[in-house]
Amino acid sequence: MLERQHPATNAQRRITIGSHFRTFVANMSALNRAYAGGTTIIACQFVKTNHRGGVAIASALASGTVALPGSDRQGNVTSMPRSTNHLLASLPDAAFELLGPHLQAVDLVHEAVLVQAGDPLTHVYFPHSGVISLVVSLAGGEMIEVAMIGRTSIMGAFAALEDRISLNHAIVQLPGTASVLEVERFRKIAEHNTALRDLITRHEHFLFAQAQQSAACNASHGVEARLARYLLQLRDLSRSDTLLLTQELSAQMIGARRNSVSMVANTLQHAGVIRYSRGHIEILDLARLRKAACECYVTVRSHHDRLLRS
Ligand SMILES: [Zn+2]
Repeated sequence: MLERQHPATNAQRRITIGSHFRTFVANMSALNRAYAGGTTIIACQFVKTNHRGGVAIASALASGTVALPGSDRQGNVTSMPRSTNHLLASLPDAAFELLGPHLQAVDLVHEAVLVQAGDPLTHVYFPHSGVISLVVSLAGGEMIEVAMIGRTSIMGAFAALEDRISLNHAIVQLPGTASVLEVERFRKIAEHNTALRDLITRHEHFLFAQAQQSAACNASHGVEARLARYLLQLRDLSRSDTLLLTQELSAQMIGARRNSVSMVANTLQHAGVIRYSRGHIEILDLARLRKAACECYVTVRSHHDRLLRS
């Protein structure tokens, strides 16, 4: 993958989401933003495990400040390298120059819900780090992952091609940062740029391939193989062997029972493959974890390389 460094444009602004969440309200509507002077008010939603073992959605009202172009939350001069998102990096210069002035940098807050199924998507996300999970929810409270979005993909690109209504929930599974722009702006740019439209089409094909593989995986492969596949995918996107992850959420994402995941995680821990403690899972033996994973790990990677790697 071609790695190029591009300094932040003047129009890029860093939005820092404060950590002081004032109010939690269960089952609220999707991400909303309101700008008031230099302060950004951002209503975020968070996943929360409910008493039935399912995942409920809670919302929080967060406040933060919009820093000036190219400055971080301490006011230091920074730049947002375009290259950390592979798809931004792969765009021809002419296409990137159309997007660049409208990109804003945001933090992807752990467990924030970026959009709920059935709600209109307002922003397109290009993650630089962290992982966003696209999940479907069932009437019994279960939420199952159908695809992962990280530094190798885009969240919400479909909105440039067709309907803006999201088919699934988008939840920040691992925290990080992303460049975002408004859907309408993205759509207008894509209408007039063949390279961007082509990238979006290939990307949506990749998402469909992921969703298809997830369905087959959950129907046919064992819990250990699914958990290993899931941990490897998170590791690839986060580039870290230590994952901020609970067994509860892992079980939800792979469509397994908490007890089954707990037993498998114990087995893998005793075998020295992983170590888990207080909301973290650490990968200790990558080779054995790969051996434990089902074929879906390699299949999804090969779909990505064929469709999106330049
Ligand atoms: Zn599988």
